Amino acid sequence: MRGLMQNHPLLISQFIEHGGTVFGNVEVVSQTVEGPIHRYTWSDVRARSRQLANALTAQGVGLGDRIATIAWTNHRHLEAYYGIAGIGAVCHTINPRLYADDLVYVLNHAEDRFVMLDLTFVPLIEAIAERLESVEGFIIMTDQEHMPSNQLPNTVCYEEFIAARAADYEWPRFDENTAANLCYTSGTTGKPKGVLYSHRSTVLHAYASCMPGNIVGGRGQCMLAVVPMFHANGWGIPYSAPMTGSKLVMPGQKLDGESLTKLMRDEGVTTTCGVPTVWLGLLDYWKEHDTSVPTVKQVGIGGAAPARSMIEEFERDFGIEILHGWGMTEMNPLGTIHTLSASERATLSPDDQLDALTTQGAPVFGVEIKVVDEDGATLPNDGKSCGELMVRGPWVCERYFKDETSAIDDEGWFGTGDIALIGEGMSMQITDRAKDVIKSGGEWISSIDLENAAMGHPDVAHAAVIGVPDEKWSERPLLIVVPAVGTEPTKEDILGCLADKVAKWWLPDDVVFEEELPVSGTGKVQKIKLREKYAPVEVKKAAG
Ligand code: ADP
Repeated sequence: MRGLMQNHPLLISQFIEHGGTVFGNVEVVSQTVEGPIHRYTWSDVRARSRQLANALTAQGVGLGDRIATIAWTNHRHLEAYYGIAGIGAVCHTINPRLYADDLVYVLNHAEDRFVMLDLTFVPLIEAIAERLESVEGFIIMTDQEHMPSNQLPNTVCYEEFIAARAADYEWPRFDENTAANLCYTSGTTGKPKGVLYSHRSTVLHAYASCMPGNIVGGRGQCMLAVVPMFHANGWGIPYSAPMTGSKLVMPGQKLDGESLTKLMRDEGVTTTCGVPTVWLGLLDYWKEHDTSVPTVKQVGIGGAAPARSMIEEFERDFGIEILHGWGMTEMNPLGTIHTLSASERATLSPDDQLDALTTQGAPVFGVEIKVVDEDGATLPNDGKSCGELMVRGPWVCERYFKDETSAIDDEGWFGTGDIALIGEGMSMQITDRAKDVIKSGGEWISSIDLENAAMGHPDVAHAAVIGVPDEKWSERPLLIVVPAVGTEPTKEDILGCLADKVAKWWLPDDVVFEEELPVSGTGKVQKIKLREKYAPVEVKKAAG
């Protein structure tokens, strides 16, 4: 027997209709590329998204057409999120830090019809425009006054493009499984792969992401979207903010400690999310200037493992609650989240609370997880059996764009490539990525645990561990350290500090010092580059 409730499709346009009507007066603030702060409301976002929808429709853009965006986190990009997906076209957010060849590859592979780009990226796209096979025109996201002279064929200024269009628009109703957004994985191995999110997956993900204990929004809250909008749908914040009535603040390209502090202070930010690299810069700035922003109550960290020392500084020194999330492009992106419950805060010792927060936490409602051994057999959730983490759920990728082969097994599980263990209450801990784990004498050494331990040393600003070849053990860990400003730690200091934190056989055989670590566009340390420098080619294969 079927239920007798309405089969109303879950569509992205509903977020902006809800935000624009229920929370019409709540502010949306962004740092523009042109310089000034831009300020308007959810009602204005709705009006201008509808204008964009009308303008795109007039260009013949419709269901299933791909429109690329190469833009920072700002108000026009937000309008593109809604204007494009709202009409049933696909918003293809491109990471501007891709190499030129990969940029050309993703634009051609997606068969994008138009490219919407921020001023910053005009030279980047000019350099590859001749190689683009499907693009009919370029919409430069600025006003007439700032429109640059450029070499791109068929360009239009965004403000002109939408100016004459009506702010009335009836969003079409279509199947909720229709594609809404496209995001390519960063392609550290092989070509980038397209993850094609649906309206349904995006709406369900947004519901889950703002449940209590997750990324808190709501009336009176102010969310700072530090995670870029070109990275996995900005972790869903552009959707959960109008859904919950939060004020939304978008920092543009200014993610340094000073700019973020100013924006947080000026706008009264209460909650924010981003990758550890950005928080490292913020904490350094706060410590150096003996300052902080008391309105900030919650910081979400994800995309890479945060060091325990980072969690400790936020929680203990600044009284900020940490949300530690794990996810990936292939899942919209949230998978698990760790926040401490009131009872954990009351019963666990301060040290145990920090230890708990370094783990990635339990699946959010909607996501199932398990770990499997090398033969694919399910391992027990005993808090010690490590294996590949598998995920399943309505916002997990089934197949990559234009790839006929399934990305999941017969039971619907998607292999994440992360190595993890699962303990009590399905609480999960990532111990490594499959390609980063160090295999020494047949046993695994967790590069994440070693990095965490090294970053606990006060003179270590940043650390990475890679495996280097070893005749006897096959691989041994090498620790690469960026010293904190004004310090000169020695190898002996650092190894001495690690000695009581990790097993003896885990201790790195060597420590080398660098001024900085190579970091990818999504804020992850590019270990591939470190391996190129410190480990011969054979090791990449062995470790890969
Ligand atoms: P890519 O695979 O292209 O780097 P993503 O940005 O989707 O793309 O990264 C997902 C990966 O990032 C995860 O598979 C995991 O390895 C890592 N990751 C994400 N969050 C965390 C976390 N909290 N702790 C450790 N690793 C994480």
